[in-house]
Amino acid sequence: MVSYKELGLVNTREMFAKAIDGGYAIPAFNFNNMEQLQAIIMAAAETKSPVILQVSKGARAYANQTLLRYMAQGAVEYAKELGWEKPQICLHLDHGDSFETCKSCVDFGFSSVMIDGSSLPYDENVALTKKVVEYAHQFDVTVEAELGVLAGVEDEVSAEESHYTKPEEVVDFVSKTGCDSLAISIGTSHGAYKFKPEQCTLDPKTGRLVPPPLAFDVLEGVEKQLPGFPIVLHGSSSVPQDEVDTINAHGGKLQAAVGIPEEQLRKAAKSAVCKINIDSDSRLAMTAAIRRVFDEKPAEFDPRKYLGPARDNMKKLYIHKIVNVLGSDGKAE
Ligand SMILES: [Zn+2]
Repeated sequence: MVSYKELGLVNTREMFAKAIDGGYAIPAFNFNNMEQLQAIIMAAAETKSPVILQVSKGARAYANQTLLRYMAQGAVEYAKELGWEKPQICLHLDHGDSFETCKSCVDFGFSSVMIDGSSLPYDENVALTKKVVEYAHQFDVTVEAELGVLAGVEDEVSAEESHYTKPEEVVDFVSKTGCDSLAISIGTSHGAYKFKPEQCTLDPKTGRLVPPPLAFDVLEGVEKQLPGFPIVLHGSSSVPQDEVDTINAHGGKLQAAVGIPEEQLRKAAKSAVCKINIDSDSRLAMTAAIRRVFDEKPAEFDPRKYLGPARDNMKKLYIHKIVNVLGSDGKAE
């Protein structure tokens, strides 16, 4: 058993409280390799933004749990080396699917875990979440829960249809479980294909698909029921069209990839939404940079020559999100 405190990490309690008061949101960036982690830490250190390093169960299996723990510890030390005196870095399990997975992460130095019982019947979601909260809180690890179902595909998660969170359920759920934050469903979804073309309208000027707006009325309903309680948005990549174009121009085949427009996320960040999850955008930025090198310099075979540009492109994306979308820059001086 290792405590996240020994690794120099923090839980989400204080960062969320400040984010709600300050009308901004904390970035939760998924990672599973060194270049992604370097890019996230460089971006957070440069902008002095609190940051959540997010690992799914699949990413944990991919990277290895022991290596991950030391990578997180290394991230804190690296941030200090970059001149960030008091780094506010949280290591969070994304979409924990069982008590055992969550317990194992708590025991391995995570400072926050998500238990996703959203696909279960309500009472079973309550019971499972409560069990995880009771274990995690002994070690001052914070717990994110989920009510409502998001559509789309993420590592361990897949659902055909979304069901919006019911605002009338949230008070009961939060008081019964004791969770520290709540992921809700208001129309975001996982992956780079968030909407079917027939759900979108076509912008005649750009020829791009415009997705349906998020259900801000549901968010407002939740906020009214739970004033000041930290709300989380999953599936909030914007799927930058320039990255998609670069991928397609260099041999890729991403058709009709659509994300959440950034102005909607900006609006959400000003509300009780205090954690916004971004994964697909970083995957796109990485893939675009690598494809470009492979296409333009086919003789190149030094991984640093394509993973380096990938890292630079991800760093640029993370800084853009922090400064222009979430507003979390300068909040962890
Ligand atoms: Zn998610």
